Amino acid sequence: MSNASSIYENWNPWHGCTKISPGCKFCYVYRQDEMYGSEISSSECRKTAAFDLPIKRGRDKSWKIPSGRVVFTCFSSDFLLKDADQWRGECWSMMRQRRDLWFYFFTKRIDRFAECVPDDWGDGYENVLVGCTVENQMMAEYRLPIFKSLPIKHKSIIVSPMISHIDIAKYLDSSIESVSVGGESGQNVRPCDYQWVMDLREQCVAADIPFHFQQTGAILIKDGKEYRIPRKFQHAQAHKANIDYRIGESLIPETANYDLPAVGENLLF
Ligand code: SF4
Repeated sequence: MSNASSIYENWNPWHGCTKISPGCKFCYVYRQDEMYGSEISSSECRKTAAFDLPIKRGRDKSWKIPSGRVVFTCFSSDFLLKDADQWRGECWSMMRQRRDLWFYFFTKRIDRFAECVPDDWGDGYENVLVGCTVENQMMAEYRLPIFKSLPIKHKSIIVSPMISHIDIAKYLDSSIESVSVGGESGQNVRPCDYQWVMDLREQCVAADIPFHFQQTGAILIKDGKEYRIPRKFQHAQAHKANIDYRIGESLIPETANYDLPAVGENLLF
């Protein structure tokens, strides 16, 4: 993981989100706010101090986020949240400006995508990766047809939190760069059955799509036995299962072309 973490950055331009589907029940944004005793409701979306992080420079004028990084974008909200419509345009501009970075966001609101993209989106920005999150079969059947129809250069499917068996075989083709799966974290959460994970892996292997078991979640059922896994071990335990398929160094799927254009430090637009 130390190797993996070295290429990743976090950018949370806003914080707070509203729950829209079963996977939101134990949302980590709400859990974190509660843990830190936040006085503002987690459903209230507000801009953060890091809003313009991608275009921030240090004292020596170099970018605070160096070229070539994968920037996990808006993980303390949903990038396509309606409450953030007024700010998203600036974020697209920053992504355009920093085309030497990869911006990667996950969304449960893929049905809002078409109305959220900028006028020059075209076939998609080369440096923007979109993960469509699905947590059960019903959400997969609703979101994945929409996702498949959209002009996005880099698409992945995020099955998290996995709260039921999922069959997405019919959606898996070369337009999907990877599938990632994880159980649910938190207290008294819904269990993830390891057999569901293995079945999903089989679907990916059959379609030759990279598959990543990201984390076990807090309750994993394996061979009929329930395991309670503390948060700090959930990633390590998934890694130990050693079931990833076509996932390369730094957790980059083999299908992804991660060659970024060289962009000079002085590039502003
Ligand atoms: S969409 Fe994501 S961030 Fe928003 S409430 Fe649901 S789980 Fe939380």
